Amino acid sequence: MRAPEPVLVVGAGPVGLVAAAELVRHGVPVQVLEAGPELSGEMRGSTFHAPTLDMLDDLGAAKAMIEQGIVAPHMQYRSRDQGIIAAFDFGVLADVTRHPFRLQCEQFKLTRILHDLLRDKPGFSIRFDARVSGCVSHGDSVEVTLDDGERIAGSYVIGADGARSPIRKSSGIEFEGFTWPERFLVLSTPFDFAEIIPDLADVSYYADPEEWFFLLKVPGVWRAMFPVPAEVPDEETLTDAYARARFARIVAGRDDYPTRHRTLYRVHQRVAKTFRQGRVLLAGDAAHINNPLGGMGLNGGVHDAFNLAAKLAQVWHGEAEETLLDLYDRQRRGVTVEHVQRQTIANKQNLEAKEPEAQRAFRERMADTAADPAKAHAYLLGVSMINSLRRAAEIA
Ligand SMILES: Cc1cc2nc3c(=O)[nH]c(=O)nc-3n(C[C@H](O)[C@H](O)[C@H](O)COP(=O)(O)OP(=O)(O)OC[C@H]3O[C@@H](n4cnc5c(N)ncnc54)[C@H](O)[C@@H]3O)c2cc1C
Repeated sequence: MRAPEPVLVVGAGPVGLVAAAELVRHGVPVQVLEAGPELSGEMRGSTFHAPTLDMLDDLGAAKAMIEQGIVAPHMQYRSRDQGIIAAFDFGVLADVTRHPFRLQCEQFKLTRILHDLLRDKPGFSIRFDARVSGCVSHGDSVEVTLDDGERIAGSYVIGADGARSPIRKSSGIEFEGFTWPERFLVLSTPFDFAEIIPDLADVSYYADPEEWFFLLKVPGVWRAMFPVPAEVPDEETLTDAYARARFARIVAGRDDYPTRHRTLYRVHQRVAKTFRQGRVLLAGDAAHINNPLGGMGLNGGVHDAFNLAAKLAQVWHGEAEETLLDLYDRQRRGVTVEHVQRQTIANKQNLEAKEPEAQRAFRERMADTAADPAKAHAYLLGVSMINSLRRAAEIA
């Protein structure tokens, strides 16, 4: 028998709203519960990979994202001493994607675009200032409790409520993994680094045994990300002097770039023990978090949302058994552990390698890969997460 209640989606971040949009597209009513008074405008993730754009295109959201973002056709590995180590052209992926590039676009633009697409759709509702404290499953329904004690019933709940997920915690699901000792500092500046760094790609990773960093161009600013050693106090990292010292690492003799935003954050590698417990489903940061090297966390979360919504719609309509939701767990948790966690840890270790031999081996490997069209194509299938989606689809 069909469950009459809507699916509850906790969290109106990118993952919650993608899940909501995909469910509504499949005729499933959805109520989104968001703790904030409005959609977040925080400067956080800004990278969208090719297959994510293909999926967002199916929702009608990719065109507006592309209009509001920067199409980045190239990616580079660089070092201060060597300049360009390896340069890759995403255009070679045109045989497998409709969007053979990386899109640099702040995630808050995606949530606004999706909210605009959804707001008048039958079956969609959203409540702001609705902070959820937890949930319980009752056989054929779920009940979510808000901070003020109000209870809301649903057929299923998707916890897309971020890394601290009360849905995950109240369900007693462990968040296994570790936290890196260093924090990451993101500094944004309207200064155009392309004016002083020859041939700089909009996505450039700098390998360095002393202090790696990366430069990403987003509309109006460049974002520079640096590791901050554990012993540096938080307050110090947010001073102008600290920013100047970091900026001085980019181009010798220059440290005077105006700072538009500063964000310091702790970086973890954690995966929930399960993405499904009965009628409780986890997606996005609620289910997994990783370092941002490679832009895989947000994209992986969007991939979760599509995978889950397609299966949940079938179950909700009575077209499939509930066990289909276990396949969501096997597929998405499987590739999160096998690909996203492994790859993001390797990305960090490659850039920061201290031993000269390890740095040299990484640089040579990248240069060799970039120089060989077949190897470059294969490499970019991994970087753009096409491989992880293919692998997920193979898991039965
Ligand atoms: C400071 C920072 C910087 C980042 N920078 C990058 C980056 O440069 N590159 C990158 O790839 N990734 C970055 N990330 C990670 C990226 O932002 C996340 O992977 C992405 O936001 C995940 O989306 P989500 O929808 O799962 O969770 P979120 O975006 O966290 O959304 C969760 C939503 O749930 C809501 N919520 C939380 N608790 C409750 C509750 N109790 N009740 C109701 N609603 C609730 C929140 O208000 C929010 O709207 C960054 C993350 C942080 C914290």
